[in-house]
Amino acid sequence: SSSSKSNFIREIIAADLANGKHATTITRFPPEPNGYLHIGHAKAICLNFGIALENASSGAECHLRFDDTNPSKEEVEYVESIQSDVSWLGFDWGQHLYYASNYFEYFHDCAVALIEKGLAYVDQQTADEIKATRGNLTEPGTPSPWRDRPVAENLDVFARMRAGDFKEGEAVLRAKIDMAAPNVVMRDPVIYRVMHAHHHNTGDAWCIYPMYDFAHPLEDAKEHITHSLCTLEFEIHRPFYDWVIEHCPVPSQPRQIEFARLNLSYTVMSKRKLLQLVKEGHVGGWDDPRMPTISGLRRRGVPPQAIRNFCERIGITKFNGVTDVALLEFEIRDFLNKEAPRRMAVLDPVKLVITNYEEGRSEEVDVPNNPEKPEEGCRRVKLTREVWIERDDFMEDPPKKFFRLFPGGYVRLRGGYILHCTGFTKGPDGLVTEIHCEYLHDTIGKDAPEGVKCKAAIHWVSVEAGISAEVRLYDRLFTVPNPDGAEGGFVSVLNPDSLHTLRAWVEPALAETAPEGIVQFERIGYFVADRKDHVPGAKPVFNRTVALRDSWGK
Ligand code: ATP
Ligand code: MG
Ligand code: MG
Repeated sequence: SSSSKSNFIREIIAADLANGKHATTITRFPPEPNGYLHIGHAKAICLNFGIALENASSGAECHLRFDDTNPSKEEVEYVESIQSDVSWLGFDWGQHLYYASNYFEYFHDCAVALIEKGLAYVDQQTADEIKATRGNLTEPGTPSPWRDRPVAENLDVFARMRAGDFKEGEAVLRAKIDMAAPNVVMRDPVIYRVMHAHHHNTGDAWCIYPMYDFAHPLEDAKEHITHSLCTLEFEIHRPFYDWVIEHCPVPSQPRQIEFARLNLSYTVMSKRKLLQLVKEGHVGGWDDPRMPTISGLRRRGVPPQAIRNFCERIGITKFNGVTDVALLEFEIRDFLNKEAPRRMAVLDPVKLVITNYEEGRSEEVDVPNNPEKPEEGCRRVKLTREVWIERDDFMEDPPKKFFRLFPGGYVRLRGGYILHCTGFTKGPDGLVTEIHCEYLHDTIGKDAPEGVKCKAAIHWVSVEAGISAEVRLYDRLFTVPNPDGAEGGFVSVLNPDSLHTLRAWVEPALAETAPEGIVQFERIGYFVADRKDHVPGAKPVFNRTVALRDSWGK
């Protein structure tokens, strides 16, 4: 959109268009289908698809490409979840859905081309030997005894690798570059390995698979990607990216540009760790509302627009840092405050009896649907002699400045009458069991009469009309800002209180909410009707998206 903040990538792209280097811009989002997408991926999705949208007038595109060159960890479930998450976030790849595994023949041809140029050789050292002879930052590497194999022999052995004559680990293809290069990445990196594994797309057609660093630039070139945007860890790999583009038969010249990845406080973000949380049962699944996955955020009730706003706000830089998760929560509240209809729900109920309201009487009062959107009007809510209110809206012995209910005090029922508290009863355990009030006639929608101090309105649910609902309150999944840095590992700092499930009383309109409907429970927080478990009219289930205010640790 035109409101997008500029950043160094948008500047490079604008310059390339202005000076005619490119006629348009083609970006890609290239997830490996080895897990569900997380909020870090959302940053890359918003960046790549955002650039395509901003440059749509020149014919810009963003490809969704499954980087599925490693058969051992990839699954069709992930391919499907990734498409569903990208769409839900609001982006459309149109015709541009690609699988890197469809280029296996091309990668192979490029490898053969390198061998023919004397730029690749089959190494039959063990993986340990290869590792041990790569040197380090101060020591150059040692050339492999196989490094100077003749081209014809390399072609023959590589063909036999492909034919299945080698076991895993017995032979690899390496680029022949420079074993003394100051950048260790350039010391004859492995570009192909033997893997006898079934692939979700190509089945058993291949038993050799390309390494990421070799395949990725070729995938980009094949798709005519102009700007290949990746995270900063790949900066030191860029010389090899450029080497592959320089020496292989490529149809275009993509350019790799790196940006800082998103790290969030109180969150782990690697798919490997998220998979561990799922497998070990610390969460209910990839879409558990406590997970930082896109599907978890969705189930939590986070609107896609709030995620896009968050990504726009954090911007794109070259500096790695940790973003405060409170900033994400701020964007969620900011959006929901404007959009979420208000409803009443009582999470910790105590009964209030309006003693001067006749038994059997009831009336409908008007309650605004959203004060931020007057055009959404009011709904009618049934008021009866007995209502549920929150236990902590009453105090037997209140401190100064307590403006809700206490013996002798006044409070308004939201949309209804002003009440005067005349007494209460207590059970043997000391808990208040019932609060007694009298209502003041003719106070609906009107100021308090002379001499009545009424400074607050509380939410309520009619005992007769209210509906019982399951409510799930979520807190952060981890107790420390940097779970990755915890001495005992991230599992040791899981928050044991990250989920509370309770029964609440809700107004009838809530029970009719469609799955994924967002609401504000007045004075409590933002909630969503659970995507999977909520059944309108039959079984209401609400997840707390975020509290009204940032109350973490308070
Ligand atoms: P993880 O390390 O969490 O497993 P990944 O980088 O291996 O993630 P890919 O599926 O390879 O996941 O990533 C797809 C794209 O998303 C890549 O271009 C990658 O740079 C980008 N990406 C992944 N994590 C982040 C992040 N935290 N912030 C920004 N971009 C990210
Ligand atoms: Mg990866
Ligand atoms: Mg990774």
